[in-house]
Amino acid sequence: MTELDVGWAERWIRQAASDLKAGRDELTELDRRIGDGDHGNNMDRGFTAVVAKLDGQAEPLETVGQVLKLVATTLMSTVGGASGPLYGTAFLRASKVVDQATADAGHLVSLVEAATEGIVARGRAHVGEKTMVDAWQPAVEAAESAAESGDALAVLRAAAEAAEAGAVATVPLVATKGRASYLGERSAGTEDPGARSTAMLLAAAVTAAEG
Ligand code: ADP
Ligand code: MG
Ligand code: MG
Repeated sequence: MTELDVGWAERWIRQAASDLKAGRDELTELDRRIGDGDHGNNMDRGFTAVVAKLDGQAEPLETVGQVLKLVATTLMSTVGGASGPLYGTAFLRASKVVDQATADAGHLVSLVEAATEGIVARGRAHVGEKTMVDAWQPAVEAAESAAESGDALAVLRAAAEAAEAGAVATVPLVATKGRASYLGERSAGTEDPGARSTAMLLAAAVTAAEG
């Protein structure tokens, strides 16, 4: 598959909303163990609001970037806590690099890179601090490696697989950023909720591209 279009972008976000709703209790349980137990509700509330905005559009959105920008502004205004501004910034930065109707493999690499840069600029976390960056950063590297194929779906699959592995790899880590860092050593043994929601988000992008 060489290109994905704005229809894919909308399907991605709707799929993400549905997967995050299904995963709400799992995310909440992770955050209950090492945070304040609201991550599932935060993500579900945010993406439910995004779907309502998509449903309410008077005119169809024309570019992938417009879809991503709608996600960004809605998450920023409906999700509090750490994850709202972090994901909001990620989607805002991503919206700027795919300001057209279709996205090829190179655009998708740029999308994942820009999203990750936004999260790092905002949260100042690096790999190994047990945050969503531990899912995003390996996704960037995997997407970059897969770009040579010129296959948009292959880029998304590589990113999603790497994010999944990165999320799982947060289990033994000790958190040094975010609320989980308040627990110190006791944060080890639980997967980071934001890394898990990142893996869900990128998996939804693949599902939407396959469908
Ligand atoms: P809050 O911690 O404010 O309740 P959420 O529970 O919605 O917000 O989100 C928690 C997630 O946010 C964490 O699991 C982690 O992945 C992510 N996070 C927190 N702080 C940072 C940071 N500085 N950089 C990157 N990600 C972070
Ligand atoms: Mg929380
Ligand atoms: Mg909170």
